[in-house]
Amino acid sequence: MIPCYKVLCGEPRRKCVHTTRTELSLQNGCVLWGNRIVVPPPGRGKLLEQLHEGHPGVVKMKSIARSYFWWPRLDHEIETKVKTCTDCQMVKAVPAAAPLHPWQVPERPCSHLHIDYAGPVKGQMLLIIVDAYSKWLEVYSSGTSTSAVTIEKLRQAFAQHGLPDTIVSDN
Ligand SMILES: [Zn+2]
Repeated sequence: MIPCYKVLCGEPRRKCVHTTRTELSLQNGCVLWGNRIVVPPPGRGKLLEQLHEGHPGVVKMKSIARSYFWWPRLDHEIETKVKTCTDCQMVKAVPAAAPLHPWQVPERPCSHLHIDYAGPVKGQMLLIIVDAYSKWLEVYSSGTSTSAVTIEKLRQAFAQHGLPDTIVSDN
């Protein structure tokens, strides 16, 4: 692989995505890329440690770095730093909770049923049927929770209470 012909990189050219020589300048002995100091390899580790102080997370670390300094694959190194830091992973923002979608309150009993299986309890699967209107609970026990059994138990329930308009289940 032909090495990058650009300054201070050393990456294979295929991977190198950074600035050209013409965008670099020299000020007080520091190489700058725009306003950012191009940090030579010996200083990078320590700077990364400082950047990581207080575990601010990838976005904040990149944002601070963007204002002050740069080196090839800096973003990648920041990501790796955070990914391999236990503290950062523990405080990583959990995804925002999806808003609850309440079911419409039915107008009469036995129109809207919620069903699910619980168990096994003492070798039995329990088909639980809850009426959304009255909160009435029906429980049918069976050795298995197959479709055939479920249909049979639902038929029993419908024979007693009438056909519902809606059944909610998790498949
Ligand atoms: Zn951390």
